[in-house]
Amino acid sequence: MSSLSPDDVDARIAAVALMAQERAIDAVLVTPGPDLRYLIGYDAVPLERLTCLVIRSDGQAHLVVPALESLAAAASPGSHLPRSAWGETDDPFLLTADIVGSCSRIAVNNQMWAEKSLRLAAVMPGVEQVLAGPLIDELRMRKSAVEVLALTRAGAAIDRVHQRVPEFLREGRTEREVGADIADAILAEGHVTVDFVIVASGPNAASPHHEVSDRVMMSGDAVVVDIGGSMPDGYRSDCTRTYHLGEPTEEFRQRYAVLQAAQAKAVEIVSPGITCEQVDAAARDILAAEGMGDLFIHRTGHGIGMETHEEPYIVAGNSRTLEPGMAFSVEPGFYAEGLHGARIEDIVVVTESGARALNTTTHDLVVIR
Ligand code: ZN
Ligand code: ZN
Repeated sequence: MSSLSPDDVDARIAAVALMAQERAIDAVLVTPGPDLRYLIGYDAVPLERLTCLVIRSDGQAHLVVPALESLAAAASPGSHLPRSAWGETDDPFLLTADIVGSCSRIAVNNQMWAEKSLRLAAVMPGVEQVLAGPLIDELRMRKSAVEVLALTRAGAAIDRVHQRVPEFLREGRTEREVGADIADAILAEGHVTVDFVIVASGPNAASPHHEVSDRVMMSGDAVVVDIGGSMPDGYRSDCTRTYHLGEPTEEFRQRYAVLQAAQAKAVEIVSPGITCEQVDAAARDILAAEGMGDLFIHRTGHGIGMETHEEPYIVAGNSRTLEPGMAFSVEPGFYAEGLHGARIEDIVVVTESGARALNTTTHDLVVIR
């Protein structure tokens, strides 16, 4: 399912062609993955047979597909593009090189398999290959109104799952059991895939990318629940809330209050003209001022769209300026090894004058008694 119209496809192709021209790139080649889905709405599975969209810098676009996938390609929003279907005994790389024509430099999508890239190099000797990511990311990181709506629906869907998490979290259950219930709920609430389920309890909460384990949860555990999935249109959700089984210690409560303030401050400063690193610093400075700087061991956030992690990254050293339509996570945390951890994560979209959070469930510590 794609919300792209043929006009959107043409506009995105024209934008890529223009950027290619500006960078002296003769053609941009895109194999299956999020870039292809973004550009022409074709959600092809990356397989050994070559599927490749060729966008020449003169604006001509052409899709090379295996004959047996031609019908699937014809059902996508990019079906009006010229298409060449190749048979099982044809050489699709020669065919692609022929469509590209004479050239000295091509860009390939970041997720093109090395095998495909090397075989293209073999049939195009002397042609330089560069990454297409820097071009395509310029488009993907600035969400259209339709894309913002799609991310809003994804955010609402994952919020409904978080509202159900207190039913699943019980003393005596394992992280894995709770994780399975959450995965079912992610699908039940409108996603088509479960992309990740983190249920990190007690000392496991000190590991930001812990997934699930057979640890039995008990009273006194903080539980970090970081979950996300993909909606039918390909847009993704990602949201973290921290729960607590039984009463938290005074130390945990105090640390959590600092985290809550840090997350709120970082969202508050988001606005066009602010840089990514300023957003990161806003959260980090509050944690550091309370002696928790060493406990915040990752960047503050990442862009989100057709991938869970994409540009722009909210990290020290990234001086990129925010613009309306950029969507990213704001997710500071604290991690005390062997003891506990917590994280609060919302997806926010930059508006004309500030930011709008796409996740709206409470940021307060949810204590389950
Ligand atoms: Zn997350
Ligand atoms: Zn995230």
